[in-house]
Formats: sequence, structure tokens, C-alpha cells
Amino acid sequence: MITAVMPNYARTDFALIRGEGMYIWADDGRRFLDMGAGIAVNGLGHCHPRLVAALRDQAGRLWHASNLYRIAGQEKVADLLVARTFADTVFFNNSGAEAVETAIKMARRHHHDGGRPERFRILSCEGSFHGRSLTDLAAGSNEAHRVGFGPLPEGFDHVPFDNLNALRAAVTDGTAAILVEPVQGEGGIRAASPGFLKGVREICDEFGLLMVLDEVQTGNGRTGRLYAHEWSGITPDILATAKGLGGGFPVGAVLATEAAAAPMIAGTHGSTFGGNPLAMAAVGATLGTVLEPGFLDQVKDMARLLWSCLADVVGNHPAVLADVRGQGLMVGMRCVDGVENGRLVGKMMEHGVLTVPAGENVVRMLPPLIIEESHIDEAVAALDRSCREIARDAAPTAGGGTI
Ligand SMILES: *Cc1c(COP(=O)(O)O)cnc(C)c1O
Repeated sequence: MITAVMPNYARTDFALIRGEGMYIWADDGRRFLDMGAGIAVNGLGHCHPRLVAALRDQAGRLWHASNLYRIAGQEKVADLLVARTFADTVFFNNSGAEAVETAIKMARRHHHDGGRPERFRILSCEGSFHGRSLTDLAAGSNEAHRVGFGPLPEGFDHVPFDNLNALRAAVTDGTAAILVEPVQGEGGIRAASPGFLKGVREICDEFGLLMVLDEVQTGNGRTGRLYAHEWSGITPDILATAKGLGGGFPVGAVLATEAAAAPMIAGTHGSTFGGNPLAMAAVGATLGTVLEPGFLDQVKDMARLLWSCLADVVGNHPAVLADVRGQGLMVGMRCVDGVENGRLVGKMMEHGVLTVPAGENVVRMLPPLIIEESHIDEAVAALDRSCREIARDAAPTAGGGTI
């Protein structure tokens, strides 16, 4: 018989019931160090006092108001994002999938209103993940996610990730935009090489395309900058974000330049819940904290420490781990062939640490940005122990046993 909760996730036996800072508790009494943060969502850890206070305060005043009215929290958060990023304007919605979908709609409408309606195709990368709406499935490249859900919307072309020549060669008169993740998340924590985003910007400029970044996972401080593209010195035309934006409250946003967003006049797009007062209180408190002087410097310091510790563990366990990859506190460790990533995630869980699997046989660490040295020690010790046990189980028994 089907479970009351639709069974489209393979879930753990235990339920998570309480969180505080870097830790989360299960209903069987176990405590875990949370190195997954709800897949890069709980950027300030669990029940951060500033977030709790902001939501409590908002909950006592106004939960929801339609976008037919001005919403004070939206104006405050949009002003902050406009002041601290490339964006001139911001649209709020409820998830990453919607943010990417909105970005794609904007890119098409931009060319439509610019007198080039034939430009509706989006170029994106192999290995990418852009969400689970039909349009986002067409933009992403995971074949397994699409099975049985067709037909998907028209107008998506894919090229190998991190390959500027292939990208340039794929541009046609029908191309509207290039859509990329600065670091592919679900695809296996694959960071583009340093010049890639700059090259994408140049191709967009040369052919009059919009550069659209999917920073749903890389954004909101995850890599040590507010948005990951800041490392490359370029700015996109449109950026979709979500995950860490509300520190655990479901909320997404599309940031855009004035030129890119010009067609989005009243009536073109909408969302009932998008940017509601509760969500905006959560975003205001999250971004307010992440943008405090020194916060992102601490993220960078902790990322450096985590990377150097993980490099040691990888070096010590060549029978289990192949490499460390990613950027900032978005870290992947690729398991060698023959060691399934789910096995390492399971071992880590046995040793009290939550991690998340990703594509290419990778185990992800996406810890809350408030991580400290002691937590890194704890996570690395559990990883070392997990690798030792996996290597020992795999090794032929000393002495041969049955001679
Ligand atoms: C998670 C993710 C999405 C989808 O976000 P949802 O909130 O699950 O809809 C889109 N793009 C990237 C890069 C993501 O990591």
C-alpha cells in the first residue's frame, strides 16, 4: 500500500525533529553534526536567534499579503540586494525551480520585446541541474529526471560544461541566453575553471545574448562571496537564487539588470506567495547576518581549513576517495569506482555526521556557514573513520582465511 507521504524520496528510517546551530536531532534520540544543511539551505544553522526573532516578530504582525499591494519587507530586501549586487531589480518567488523558470521567461520576453522573437533558445550545460518544473527539466541535463514526463518545452540546447569553444559553436540566430551554474551542484560539485564565466560573458556580449546564472545552490554566501560569480569579476544579466536565501524559509529570487528586466511590466508574471512578509522577514535576517562585516571572511577561513583537512583525508584513503572539488563551503569528495557514494554517506551517518550524495559518485559537504574549527575537526574525524572502515571491509582479509 502506498504511504501517506508520496514515496518519491528514499528517506531515512528516523525523522529529524529539532535543530540548534550546527546540530540536528532525530526522533530516536541521535544527534547529528549537520554538514548538509538541508542541501545548502540552513546557512545560519538551525534556529539562529536572529532568524527566530525576525520570524516571531513578523508572525505577530502580518503573514501574507497579495502582491496587489506594496509589501514593505520586499522593498527592504530588494533595496539590500540591489545595493550589494549587480542587480537593478528583484522578483521574489518560493523555490529554486520557480526562480530559474522565471529567469528563462524573462530571457525570452526580453528578446521578444526587443523585436527578435525568434530568439527563444536557451543554451545550458551537460551535467547541469536547474529544478524539477518541466521547463527546468528541459534546461537541465539529467535524463533520469525526465523519463515519462514528456513532452518538455521546446528550445533547449546542451553543450559540455566548462568548454567555451563548444559553447560558442552552439550559438545560433535563435539563441536567447546562456544558462549556467558557477559550480554544478547536483551534477557532482563541479567548479568551472577560473576563466569560464568571463568567457561566457564575452560570448554573450559578442552575440547579444543574456547571461543567466543559476546560483540557487552557490548563492547567499556559500562560496565565501555573496554570489559565486563575484569571484570571476563579471556580472550576469539575470541570476536565479533560492536555497540559502531564507535560511530555511522557502523563498527564491530573480535578480536582474534594468535592461534584462525591462519587459516585465505589470501583468507579465506573478506569484501568489512570492515575497510574502514571512519570507521577507527570513531573508532580511539571513542576508543581514551574511553581509555583516567579517562574516564572509570567516566563511573563507573555514573553507580553507576544511579543504586542507579533506585533502589530507583523501590522500590517506586512496582506496576510497579520489579528489576534493568545489568552491568555498560547497565541497564534494569523489568516491573511487567500486565505492558507492551512498555507502560513504551512510557510514558518515553512523558516525553522527550528515552529508549529501551528488552526481559523479560524489559526497557533498554543504555545512551551515556558521561552522567553526571544532565542527570541522568532528566532521573530518568521522570521514577518516568512515573511509578506514570502508577500506578495511573492501580489503582482502589478511592471511587469506581459506587456504
Ligand atoms: C536545488 C536547485 C534548484 C531547484 O531548487 P528547488 O528549490 O528545489 O526548486 C535549481 N538549481 C540548482 C542549481 C539547484 O541546486
